[in-house]
Amino acid sequence: MAEGLLGRLSGRGASSKAGADKHFDVALSDEEWRQRLSPEQYRVLRQHGTERAGASPLDKQYGAGIYHCAGCGQPLFDAGSKFNSGTGWPSFSAPLEEAVETETDRSFFMSRTEVHCRRCGGHLGHVFEDGPAPTGLRYCMNGVSLDFHAGGTPADAPAGNTADANKKP
Ligand SMILES: [Zn+2]
Repeated sequence: MAEGLLGRLSGRGASSKAGADKHFDVALSDEEWRQRLSPEQYRVLRQHGTERAGASPLDKQYGAGIYHCAGCGQPLFDAGSKFNSGTGWPSFSAPLEEAVETETDRSFFMSRTEVHCRRCGGHLGHVFEDGPAPTGLRYCMNGVSLDFHAGGTPADAPAGNTADANKKP
């Protein structure tokens, strides 16, 4: 079972350096990220950690709204694409347009597709090809990387110009 495998792997820092030498619109120093994020958010978003399965209250959250990046505030997923994958991690069939980027993650002797925020490079989770129609994709996200805003729509949350981006850590 994928959940068991990933569950056992969680808590150990992955070695991938995704985006380390890449420019992102929100580029903070390591110290600034440490100040802005909780220790668990920092471990997942900035060190490619994985939260414990079932740890996030967002896993069982199905109300309408938008899931934003916990690092920079970028809108990432509409609640309409969320589904119950049974894995213990919030799962989505598709991200919002231009919200995320992916790259191949070969840590732990596996080849997986890593998903990170397009705006700040924060690690969100992985995407697998066993999701529901129409995309067939399962974006398996760490809830701690997400910030849920109930009731909103993507139009209410313009990318690239949210208050969070300008907030002092
Ligand atoms: Zn971000």
